[in-house]
Amino acid sequence: MILCYVCLICIVLLTFACKYYCYHIIFLTRPDHWYLDYPHCGGNSQSPVNIQTVNVIRDSQNLVPFEMKGYDSTGDLQMDLENNGHTIQINLKDKGMSITGGNLSNVYIAHQFHFHWGKNNKRGSEHAIDGKYFPMEMHIVHYNLKHNNFSQALNKQDGLAVLSFFFQVGKNNVNLDPVIQRFPEIPNKDDHTTIQKLALRNLLPKTLDGYFRYHGSLTTPPCYESVQWSIFNEPINISQKQLQSFRNKVHQNFANETNRDISDDYRPLQPLNQRTVYSSK
Ligand SMILES: [Zn+2]
Repeated sequence: MILCYVCLICIVLLTFACKYYCYHIIFLTRPDHWYLDYPHCGGNSQSPVNIQTVNVIRDSQNLVPFEMKGYDSTGDLQMDLENNGHTIQINLKDKGMSITGGNLSNVYIAHQFHFHWGKNNKRGSEHAIDGKYFPMEMHIVHYNLKHNNFSQALNKQDGLAVLSFFFQVGKNNVNLDPVIQRFPEIPNKDDHTTIQKLALRNLLPKTLDGYFRYHGSLTTPPCYESVQWSIFNEPINISQKQLQSFRNKVHQNFANETNRDISDDYRPLQPLNQRTVYSSK
């Protein structure tokens, strides 16, 4: 009986300690337990999913190309480059970039973009196509202008639109350098630096008319089912050396702790359930 009490106390203490100190464990190693603290993570319309192309419904009439405003412009405006301990994120400071079209119901404003990548080239993307993973995936997160700001849009059914791009290992991608070259300034969790505004369009594939569409969720807690996902067919190139920078130069820990890679910051695949994935062509 005494042993049981000791066990119980240990479990309570460990859970408490983990809740406050094992951020990586809570967010990344045990995503199957997220729903205990964040009930939406146990919902029926979660992301990411495996897109089985044989089951995709073509809808070229509605899934027209996006119109991107402000994606081309550089200039004096700056962007905030952040290591938040579970990804590298670029926070946009104004409403200068937006999308319409693509069968979205309204104008969606770009709020931030970030990356998910693996420890090796066989994994890292969140979504998969016919079971195939890519070494990295980028999410450009937009919110519906009708909800005024990102926080208010976050949990609304039509609140967010995420444009998602896979990466494949290939030639060096100079358009990623303005981000990667600044990694030495943000090695640890909560580090920030300022970068010149990127012309994000240059980073994206040349053709953007081929994409998949389904309704899903945020892939991190609180997992709200508020995302219109657009997963683009054509991958972006990244060199092996550039991938290694993501793997080795930024860490999930604070400065005074032992270095731990951010790599493998992807959520496992979620069941599609009754949802349909559509494609633009
Ligand atoms: Zn993401």
